[in-house]
Amino acid sequence: RRLPVDPSDVNVPRQVPGACFSRVRPAPVEKPRLVVLSGDALALLDLDGDELERWEEETAEYFSGNRLLPGCQPAAHCYCGHQFGNFAGQLGDGAAMYLGEVLNSKGERWEMQLKGTGPTPYSRQADGRKVLRSSTREFLCSEAIFHLGIPTTRAGTCVTSDSQVLRDIFYDGNPKHEKCTIVLRIAPTFIRFGSFEIFKPMDEFTGRQGPSVNRNDIRVEMLDYVIGTFYPEIQQSYPDNKVERNAAFFREITRRTARLVAEWQCVGFCHGVLNTDNMSIIGLTIDYGPFGFLDRYDADHICNASDSAGHYAYRKQPEICKWNLKKLAEALVPELPLEVSQPVLDEEYDAEFEKHYLMKMRNKLGLVQEQEEDSKLVSELLETMQSTGMDFTNCFRLLSSFPIPGVSSSFKMEDYIEKIIEQCGSLEELKVLCKPQMDPRQLSMILMLAQSNPQLFDLIGSKAAVTKELDRIERYSKLQQLTDADLLSRNKKQWTEWLQKYSSRLEEEKEGTTDIDELNVQRVKLMNSNNPKFVLRNYIAQNAIEAAENGDFSEVRRVLKLLENPYSEEALSNLDVNEEPVAEAAVAACA
Ligand code: AMP
Ligand code: MG
Ligand code: MG
Repeated sequence: RRLPVDPSDVNVPRQVPGACFSRVRPAPVEKPRLVVLSGDALALLDLDGDELERWEEETAEYFSGNRLLPGCQPAAHCYCGHQFGNFAGQLGDGAAMYLGEVLNSKGERWEMQLKGTGPTPYSRQADGRKVLRSSTREFLCSEAIFHLGIPTTRAGTCVTSDSQVLRDIFYDGNPKHEKCTIVLRIAPTFIRFGSFEIFKPMDEFTGRQGPSVNRNDIRVEMLDYVIGTFYPEIQQSYPDNKVERNAAFFREITRRTARLVAEWQCVGFCHGVLNTDNMSIIGLTIDYGPFGFLDRYDADHICNASDSAGHYAYRKQPEICKWNLKKLAEALVPELPLEVSQPVLDEEYDAEFEKHYLMKMRNKLGLVQEQEEDSKLVSELLETMQSTGMDFTNCFRLLSSFPIPGVSSSFKMEDYIEKIIEQCGSLEELKVLCKPQMDPRQLSMILMLAQSNPQLFDLIGSKAAVTKELDRIERYSKLQQLTDADLLSRNKKQWTEWLQKYSSRLEEEKEGTTDIDELNVQRVKLMNSNNPKFVLRNYIAQNAIEAAENGDFSEVRRVLKLLENPYSEEALSNLDVNEEPVAEAAVAACA
């Protein structure tokens, strides 16, 4: 469709109506250098990581975009999106470029994309570059999420350079020069919910519309492509009923998305920017920006510093993804009428999320039998974590050494409680965790005025946000009255209570078994393959980035190795820091 003739024009930002891709060219960088590669991810392209490492200079040339692999046809994808609840109009690949697709020796089809290769028609005011900080984070987290067993786009290489761009990382008016750094991303496709929003008619609230409004022909073509290529079973099941086919596709992406979010919740992963343009059409985790893994458990955790309202807070992820599916459903009209998609969403999403979440949580707690009250046990565990400031990752890992009653071991409850308490927050940390965001006087004023004018709730988000805030104020003021000693005994009491419930629940697991020791061994195995010992905590990434900024890439490479075996006992010990000569970052991981 209307390809630009003059190659020097291709990267100019513009609105692009009537097309879902634009031809582009990577802008070269100076002195590209390989920071790290993932042999695992490159194998998807039938590339040998060791070989690429031996030919490091060539590797850096190709995967910086300075040179193009034979057959590459770089293009940027046009998409729109709802950002923080509002339609944003045309967005598109502003920094990423599609290179082409590889059919590997297994017959799999993989798309290659370079991210950070300079301006495209979709760069708007930005420069299309990524820096060492952002690219290292994307690289490490893509691979971390993959090795945790969660669907995601992959990262093959990370290449930095001597070219620099200005970034104001703390928005403090002191921008600093950072090194242009490019990531090779790999996925079956990078098409998003937002890809289907380029056809959106005028949005009442923002007055914006998609650039390809009224181009139903392209929507049909794109939907046929997505279903035919990535959902071949669905395509084959409904050869001549398109509405049914499209409904089956929507049902499947609804289920996949629900399961994806359940997986995130269960490892404490916060995405941070769950806009519809960051929602994969095949249910992958996509676009690693200000993401964060929970340290101390806080359901209200916000990992994106620019999300002050907590639109994408940890606990909101499930409902937000459902809302995003609703936007996808709207974007599929008329190929899939809302009367068909809405019931699918209502029937499937919550049920699939609950089912998958509970299944994962049972695995994390080492529960094989299914009991009615399990979901209560889980929510009470999370409440206990929240009120004691427990580290999310370490807590679950630690639970595997709490035995099934009757096991022949030298287990001592007092020692175990000590270990648990070590992972809880101090009074100061807890106060920081639940510090109210609003002055109580301000809040009571709003509540008073809202009695006559309920719209006032919109000012501060929603009624739910007000309730949450009240809750925080209450928790905060209770903490104010405690001393460290009070806190310690309170924590002990709360954990003992929960562990007693857990213990009686574990009792029920014994039904029909005579060999309790063996049962416990199996249970620990199940738990340890569902409770990671190692997640990409922000400061671990930060340490590696700082070393890389000083020219030392070894820490990034070492962290990648750790993330490749997140469940392994041997890899390192997050908990028994004195027992093994572990690396500093890993030691700090349990702090
Ligand atoms: P994100 O919040 O990362 O999903 O990005 C939102 C939009 O901004 C997308 O269209 C991105 O392609 C675009 N974008 C992000 N970073 C850059 C950049 N450095 N240069 C140009 N466009 C960008
Ligand atoms: Mg994005
Ligand atoms: Mg991004």
